[in-house]
Amino acid sequence: MLHPSHQLRFINPVIGYGVFATEPIPKGTIVGFVDSLDIKILPKTYERLNDKVRAIIEHFVYIDKEGDGILAWDNEKYINHSCDSNALVTPYHLSIAAHDIAKNEEITIDYTLNDAYLDIHKEGEGLSCQCGSPNCRKIINNLDIDSYLPIFISRLNEALTCSLQVKQPLFDFMDTKEKNELIKAFQNHSDCSKIMLEFLKKRSSNFHKKWNRILS
Ligand SMILES: [Zn+2]
Repeated sequence: MLHPSHQLRFINPVIGYGVFATEPIPKGTIVGFVDSLDIKILPKTYERLNDKVRAIIEHFVYIDKEGDGILAWDNEKYINHSCDSNALVTPYHLSIAAHDIAKNEEITIDYTLNDAYLDIHKEGEGLSCQCGSPNCRKIINNLDIDSYLPIFISRLNEALTCSLQVKQPLFDFMDTKEKNELIKAFQNHSDCSKIMLEFLKKRSSNFHKKWNRILS
């Protein structure tokens, strides 16, 4: 589920739609989380789909820790990639604002961290990127994730330290248990590198276990 202060806007025919902040979203705010209405795409479901439907699914789906595809039921699926994204994936089934997001700024995420699907690409393959950031990597895949990971983790650590000091509108949409566990994780937060590495390792291994036969 996506932060309520957003609007879906058409950008151009190449990029299509994007999600824009309608109010300032401070650093550390939860921008989106996996909720029970999101649609799980299991390998056996995907196998039964025809190529046209598969193409749509592949465009919008991301892979969760269990290695299954997740299709967001709301506008969260329209969040575009940026090599200098203002939101970051965390190991807590949610993404947070990496810095203060201004009103009318497009909310972006780095697909490198968001999608184990990118693991399957070889050198020079992946999603081509025209995000316009000075650090644009041009081809997005997970081959060189190790070189970016320390930067992601340091940005994430910094943003997570703000998470209990800012308003969290999405807390109102979580069940009490989920919300309390998150508050505890934020309170105990100091360095999420270990949990982030475990999360990425588990997701990648589950993804390969479940999807290699189908996608190879
Ligand atoms: Zn880029």
